[in-house]
Amino acid sequence: MSGGEIDRPRIEGAVREILAAIGEDPYRDVLRETPERVAEAYAYLFGGLHEDPDEYLDTSFAGDFGDPVMLRDVPVASLCEHHLLPFVGKAHVGYVPDGRVVGLSEVVRVVEGYARRPQIQERLTAQVADSLHGALGSRGSIVVIEAEHTCMTMRGAEKPGTITVTSAARGVYAEDAALRAEFLAHVSGR
Ligand SMILES: [Zn+2]
Repeated sequence: MSGGEIDRPRIEGAVREILAAIGEDPYRDVLRETPERVAEAYAYLFGGLHEDPDEYLDTSFAGDFGDPVMLRDVPVASLCEHHLLPFVGKAHVGYVPDGRVVGLSEVVRVVEGYARRPQIQERLTAQVADSLHGALGSRGSIVVIEAEHTCMTMRGAEKPGTITVTSAARGVYAEDAALRAEFLAHVSGR
């Protein structure tokens, strides 16, 4: 996928096909512009395929840091790769620096970069945890994502409001239950 671009005219043609296939007239009034709008939305929502989110961590800075850094309620919006329907929620992210920290906005960009592609919540959670452990070079990382999957809640398999929770822990967070408990106490301390 590297170096590729999003082919908007191709998306437009495909969306026109879908509209025709469901029995709509792709050329009736407002629908005429829909393929272009979908292509523009997809270019943004799948744009993460053409970037390496770990590069946001290149701007880390050195210092005498060793205490956990925790972010609560980072917005998450992605599309499930099973149905291309949105799942939306929030991520809670923590890591224990090993002498290097990164700006909080860069952590948010890592989450967004991995979310903006066809995804499953479990992999998104693992990718962010791996990034903050491996790419950043921290002593450990932990990620909890809570999200509502519209492919489930819009089709009756689950009631609206049902939340899927996934978590991933790396390094010291995988080894140290007390550290995990401290993180969970922080992110649930509303
Ligand atoms: Zn789905």
